[in-house]
Amino acid sequence: MANWVLHSLIDGIRTEPGPDAQHLPAGASPGRPVSQRLNTTVAAQMAALCPSGALAVNEDAVAVNFAHCIHCQRCRQPSGALQWRDDAQWSQWRDSAANPLPRRYRHSVNVRYLDAGACGACMGEVRQIDAPPYNLHRYGIFITATPRDADVLLVAGPVTEAMRLPLRKTYEAMPEPKRVVTMGVCAINGGVFGQSFASIGGVGEVVPVDLVIAGCPPPPLAIVHGLLLAAGQLQGLQDGEDARP
Ligand code: SF4
Ligand code: SF4
Repeated sequence: MANWVLHSLIDGIRTEPGPDAQHLPAGASPGRPVSQRLNTTVAAQMAALCPSGALAVNEDAVAVNFAHCIHCQRCRQPSGALQWRDDAQWSQWRDSAANPLPRRYRHSVNVRYLDAGACGACMGEVRQIDAPPYNLHRYGIFITATPRDADVLLVAGPVTEAMRLPLRKTYEAMPEPKRVVTMGVCAINGGVFGQSFASIGGVGEVVPVDLVIAGCPPPPLAIVHGLLLAAGQLQGLQDGEDARP
């Protein structure tokens, strides 16, 4: 332990500010595109450039649908024309009926993570959330191995046929009240994998979803943001932004 502290002091490892900060840590993620006003011709060019149909042109403005943005960065300045925002507030309730866990859970939430068929990048991001730089535990949120102890089910990836039953069983094994949070566009609607003989598509095809975290993949602080939202500690995407299926 003493060596770890010494190593941290020498190398400058420290816990980053929370996801309510205005900026992501340097080098962690370029952030996300924002809806904005653009010259009509340029807006149409950006929409044509987008490989996933995430950009919609409305006269002299372009709107980003985060449910389809795969973060290819083609639209990002300077090669593209869109400004990006480097915050971590990428989450949104699935519909107006969804709400956080009851207040008594606010500082004691157990999360069961399930990979339902992800490419591996979502897994790479979620593995960092309880490491020292992001320090999930400071919020009273913990990863648990068993669904019997879980209050939140965090799911990544499109749901493969092989994972349909494990996902359903995991959900059913969790006690009430429970919330389902999805991370990444694949878990919203199948993402780049879509629907096929092997992929069912989004998590909502199998279990009811409460909250979606956009991104491909979402960076660790955006995942923490979604979990804090489920715990009732933060607000979601701003008015006019959309990450719903
Ligand atoms: S970053 Fe997202 S919105 Fe921009 S071009 Fe790629 S998929 Fe489309
Ligand atoms: S959302 Fe992106 S990073 Fe996550 S599983 Fe799908 S393709 Fe991979």
